Amino acid sequence: MDSPDLVFENATIVDGTGKPSWKGEVAVRRDRVVAAAEKLSDNFKNGAERVNAAGRVLAPGFVDVHAHGELEPLADTSAAGKVVEGVTTEISGNCGLTPFPLMGALRGRFEKEACDEYGWKPSRLDWSSASEYFDKLEGAGCSINRGFLAGHGSLRAAVNGYGNNPLGEDGRRLMRHLLEDSLNAGCFGLSTGLAYPPGCYASHEEIADLAGICARKGALYTSHMRSESDELETSIAETLRVCRETGARTQISHLKTALQRNWKKIEFLDKTLHQARRDGLDFHADRYPYTASSTGLDSILPNWAYVGGNTEELKRLNDSSISATLEAEVAAKNPEADFWARIQVAAVTHEALRIEISGRNMAEIATMWNVRPFEAFRRIAIEDELRTTAIFSSMCEDNLERILSWEFVMVASDATARNISGPTRVAAPHPRTFGTFPRMLARYVRERKLLSLEEAIRRMTALPAETFHIADRGTIRPGAYADLVLFDAQTIRDEATFSDANRFPTGIDRVYVNGVLAVKDGTVLDARAGRVLRHYERFN
Ligand SMILES: [Zn+2]
Repeated sequence: MDSPDLVFENATIVDGTGKPSWKGEVAVRRDRVVAAAEKLSDNFKNGAERVNAAGRVLAPGFVDVHAHGELEPLADTSAAGKVVEGVTTEISGNCGLTPFPLMGALRGRFEKEACDEYGWKPSRLDWSSASEYFDKLEGAGCSINRGFLAGHGSLRAAVNGYGNNPLGEDGRRLMRHLLEDSLNAGCFGLSTGLAYPPGCYASHEEIADLAGICARKGALYTSHMRSESDELETSIAETLRVCRETGARTQISHLKTALQRNWKKIEFLDKTLHQARRDGLDFHADRYPYTASSTGLDSILPNWAYVGGNTEELKRLNDSSISATLEAEVAAKNPEADFWARIQVAAVTHEALRIEISGRNMAEIATMWNVRPFEAFRRIAIEDELRTTAIFSSMCEDNLERILSWEFVMVASDATARNISGPTRVAAPHPRTFGTFPRMLARYVRERKLLSLEEAIRRMTALPAETFHIADRGTIRPGAYADLVLFDAQTIRDEATFSDANRFPTGIDRVYVNGVLAVKDGTVLDARAGRVLRHYERFN
């Protein structure tokens, strides 16, 4: 065997498989691990750079299978917020949204976003298919490995726009064709966002048809379900039905019981999901270690408000009689006194508005403006043209711990790779953007002792890699890629909080991506050793 370039000595190795940690040495040559043993011979190690890992845990780089980000990977190739947490691979394109196939109404949406957020001309969006987008990312370079799902909402928007009509046979055929094209380009599966337009207008048949294609290709079906709150039971039934009827391996995205009146449904979730697994259904789930979600501020509206896309939605909000109906529906659905206080404004595109309201909750903003909370919501939506995102405190710690304890649940961020400065910075993001993985290890392993270190690492590495078919990543073994994270299990912690989120975690010494040092002592290096990953690299 050729001599290694790099050897970790005296490391506590947690290899991702869940087996007990062991003290030993790991050797890396170029982009792969070439040896892992209690003691490697001095002869073999000759000439290699040696890293004394005494008192440190060496684990596979974390695999974040629930990521977002469409233009951000092009706007800032550093992926700083992810790699600094120890994430070496992310799967984007969740919840139905991908920047491909970039055609029709989907192109219009992204051209506007590219101009509003980054000042780009439409000509900069010079791709259409998944494969062209991947080429673009490869040309730009990336600091972490990136794989993608094909978003159902994007497919539907490309083919049919943002209408709520059922798709005719021609539309269905075109969607099938575009999905196959995306899967052939290397997408790891299909994602749905059935709570968002236009995914929310799709029938079971439309989804099952596409999930069937995934099943035949061995690709995954992931779902942000229609409801994670009041209609949780029917949404779980719908997801499991797709899994059962099509045979597609299935992933339930950010599993939760949202809104206090639904917290008791944890018993239903526990019973139903464990029974379905005993019945042999092949599904998993992911979850971020926080009790607040984050999405568009306008997600509080009923589905009919979105029909036809943003222009139509804005018209409805501008029409006083329609907006009165919307206000009444939102109030009827959310009678709790603290409903508005639990919504904190996160990203705002409009500059003056951003300075005034980001980080504040909707009840505060209403008081500040001396208007009803819905009126404050309406003003923000109109002025910021529906681009505002928010953080919704709607979950409880007990249910979070229960979900994280289930053996089929992976840890994932649901966040876009952002930086604390530069074009991808957001004024008041969800702290999961910079804290997910260290928080799992600090709070739920070290402090709460919910899981062993080995099991938590498995849920952050080997389990997601196996489930998503990410070849040769997620474990430390000879032949695997040298995606590695070296950290102090006694001190690793998230520093980002809901009131001060733009903070990197601490306690991580080094992160390697494909054998290249990408983070050293909390500093992100300009390594750009990441790759665009394609399904079927080995699982063919
Ligand atoms: Zn989602």
